[in-house]
Amino acid sequence: MTDCLFCKIVAKEIPAEVVLETDRALAFRDINPQAPTHVLVIPKQHHADAAALAEADDGLADDVLKAAHAVAVQEGVAEAGYRVVFNTGPGAGQTVFHVHAHVLGGRGLTWPPG
Ligand code: AMP
Ligand code: ZN
Repeated sequence: MTDCLFCKIVAKEIPAEVVLETDRALAFRDINPQAPTHVLVIPKQHHADAAALAEADDGLADDVLKAAHAVAVQEGVAEAGYRVVFNTGPGAGQTVFHVHAHVLGGRGLTWPPG
């Protein structure tokens, strides 16, 4: 997609601090971290949100979830606990419409979220 920020990160047209890359997924640090570990995990292929990703009937959602867990292990937060969040739609706070999993950890995380 030409005008998508995260497609531009995939294409290396915009820099990002990449922490993990697989055939079909990319993980990079959030520019405005909300926790000591705050990494975004995206499919390289453009899908607008988690609903569209869920409908991509080729295991892509599986790859993104597996990459999110691999990031948590790599960041050293898997044992203490971490959160994976897909803000889906403007009402849930989604601002970038290329689906991304937020992987948050490294501090206590309260529930319910804001
Ligand atoms: P959401 O509000 O769930 O759509 O999340 C979008 C996230 O993308 C926010 O947490 C932003 O801080 C993050 N973000 C926006 N631009 C960039 C960028 N160029 N590099 C890394 N993260 C970004
Ligand atoms: Zn995109």
